Formats: sequence, C-alpha cells, structure tokens
Amino acid sequence: MTIQVHGYAAQQAKSPLGPYSFERHEPCDYDIVIDIRYCGICHTDIHQVGDEWGESKFPMVPGHEITGIVLQVGPRVTRYKVGDRVGVGCFINSCRKCEPCRKNLEQYCTEGMTTTYNGTERDGTPTQGGYSNKIVVDENYVLSIPDNLPLDKTAPLLCAGITLYSPLMHWKAGPGKKVAIIGLGGIGHMGVKIAHALGAEVTVLSHSLKKQEDGKKLGADYFYATSDLKTFEKLTGYFDLIINTVSAEIDWNQYLDLLALDGTMVVVGIPENKIPVGSFSLVAGRRSIAGSLIGGIKETQEMLDFCSKNNIASEIEVVPIQKVNDAYKRVLDSDVRYRFVIDMKSLEQH
Ligand code: NAP
Ligand code: ZN
Ligand code: ZN
Repeated sequence: MTIQVHGYAAQQAKSPLGPYSFERHEPCDYDIVIDIRYCGICHTDIHQVGDEWGESKFPMVPGHEITGIVLQVGPRVTRYKVGDRVGVGCFINSCRKCEPCRKNLEQYCTEGMTTTYNGTERDGTPTQGGYSNKIVVDENYVLSIPDNLPLDKTAPLLCAGITLYSPLMHWKAGPGKKVAIIGLGGIGHMGVKIAHALGAEVTVLSHSLKKQEDGKKLGADYFYATSDLKTFEKLTGYFDLIINTVSAEIDWNQYLDLLALDGTMVVVGIPENKIPVGSFSLVAGRRSIAGSLIGGIKETQEMLDFCSKNNIASEIEVVPIQKVNDAYKRVLDSDVRYRFVIDMKSLEQH
C-alpha cells in the first residue's frame, strides 16, 4: 500500500514547475504522516531546480521549510499524536551512528544526511519535498511547533531560521558582539531578528539602501549599502562576526577586511563557484573564514522554542502553488519581503 500525493515538480533542470502526482510509502513503525499546510521557498530550491550544484535528480519536488498537522502515526510512534502541529526541515534521516549524529549534528553525518528532497532514502527511494500535500517522516526528524507560532510564518524557520541561529550560537553572538549580516533576503532577515534578540549589535550590509527601513524594523542597529565604497572604508576592522548569506559571488577580500582582530566570516550562501580569498586579509588580523550548514534536530527545536519565547517568525508573502514559477523569478530579482510561503490548500484548485 502507498499514499497518493499531489504536488509540483520540475521535470528537468531549469524547467518550470508543474503539477505532479506521486506515491509515498505507508508509515513504518516510527513514521508520521503529515498533512502539509505551508512550505517556504528557499533559494536552495532554485539552485537545485537549476542544477547549479550538479547533483540534481528529476523529477524534483522541492521544499524543505514544511509545517503541517499530524494526520496519522506509525504503531511505535511516541513523540507525536494525530492533530499535533509539526515541522520538517532540510533532512529526514541520517545514519544515527557516526560521531556527528551522536552529537546531535546530523547535518554533518559522515554518511550524508538524507535530504528532504533531491536525496535518496536509506532504502534507495528518491526523496521528494514539501511542495506537496503529504509527507511521511520518522518522528525523530520531526519538529514540534510551539502553540504561539503560526504555521505560515513559521515554515521558513525550518531552514532560514536554523541556518542563521546555528552560527550565531556557535560564534557566540550576544551583548558586546558586533555582527554583520550580508544580504537581507530570506535567511538574512532571520539572522537580523535572531541576532538582535540575542543582544548583539547588528549591521546589515545590503546592495542598496532600498531595504533600510525594513532592516531597522527587523532589529538592525545599522544599515549600509555595499554599492557605496565608503561603506568599506568606514567599517574596516569593525566586526567580530560577519555572516554572508548572499547567493551570488561577492568580493570576499573586501569583506574580510571588515573583520576585527580574531573576527570570523561565516559562509552560509552557496554560489556555484569556489571562494577566492587572498592570504593577506586573513593573516593581517588573525581572521578566520568558516562555513555553517543548517542545524541538527535538537538545535532546530531549541531555535523554535527561542523564537516562540521571543515572538520571532518570518516576514512572508503567501502565494498559491500555481504562482511558484513567478515567485522564483522574484526571488532572483531580490524582490521578496522576505520569504515566499506556499499555501498548500491551493493544490485543491485546478
Ligand atoms: P534570498 O532570499 O534570495 O536572499 C539572498 C540575498 O542576497 C538577497 O536578498 C540580496 O540581499 C543578496 N543578493 C542576491 N544577489 C546578489 C548579488 N548578485 N550581489 C549581492 N547581493 C546579492 O536567498 P536565501 O534563501 O536567503 O538563501 C541565500 C543563500 O543561502 C543561497 O545560496 C542558499 O542556497 C543558501 N543557503 C544555505 C544554507 C546553509 O545551510 N548554509 C541554508 C539555506 C540557504 P540584498 O538585497 O540585501 O543585497
Ligand atoms: Zn533552505
Ligand atoms: Zn551519521
């Protein structure tokens, strides 16, 4: 027996997404069937549909910012019951045995995490994501959504939220720390909100001043345009931590010079090409360049609870699934304030 699922898929690289029906397996012992209500559109979905990272599998149902309601549970499930509000992020399984998995860092699983889509389940079945009406996931990889967080505005926390929460915690953003976020997009705007709630001084480095007013409302103390060369002169040696969320190439060396002694620049945006970095900017201030990938299940739950306590959710524009291709174009034009979220009820319209 299988579960019939409806969604939207790209049939091949760069092709527009269109209606697609497929099957998911019935819940095994520890699985949960989720009625998907909302799914955020992450820039990663666009990179993957475009096969920009060279590992895309088609047909592809993207989507890894999923919120919904538990519809059915497998016989041995203990953590959730029918009707619970839940979320699923970027992965749905991992080996559970390696050192990173044992340390609750499943995203760095040495065998590779099972990504929510564009991956393969441990039995070899291709995974398909959240631009669909149902998903079946092991309870250990499902998050609980706190009651005060709405399902639509919370969907982006499952990727965008945790992607910034994890490095902000790891590099100890907090009172007395000067943090810069490069790029005020989906993940960047979550970084501003979370860093502000952690008590850090927050600066946005955006390509223009168009989003300045929004940036300040989201919690930024300062806002600068990177198209203005004076920004770089003024901020040389200033930041303890810079998080780069830009999905395109930037001039890395120019930004490294903005770090203070022992400062760290964390790469979270993933453009196609390698990062060219000159040695001088690094050695001159004992600076570091580092990367960070989403967060583990335990930390993702911690982030949701932190957001619940601090009343943090994403700024969203809800769209029907029929508009997903237009939404992709608008993300590429930086014309989104600040995350598109698909209302999955729209799948019922024809
Ligand atoms: P997004 O909403 O499109 O935001 C990216 C932002 O980067 C834009 O809003 C824009 O901000 C800036 N930007 C875009 N093109 C630019 C250009 N040519 N030059 C300078 N700035 C530019 O994307 P997102 O969903 O936040 O994702 C951002 C990146 O993070 C993607 O590469 C995605 O794959 C990656 N990602 C990584 C992880 C991880 O775990 N490491 C997780 C999720 C996503 P301004 O208008 O403010 O300049
Ligand atoms: Zn994502
Ligand atoms: Zn593992």
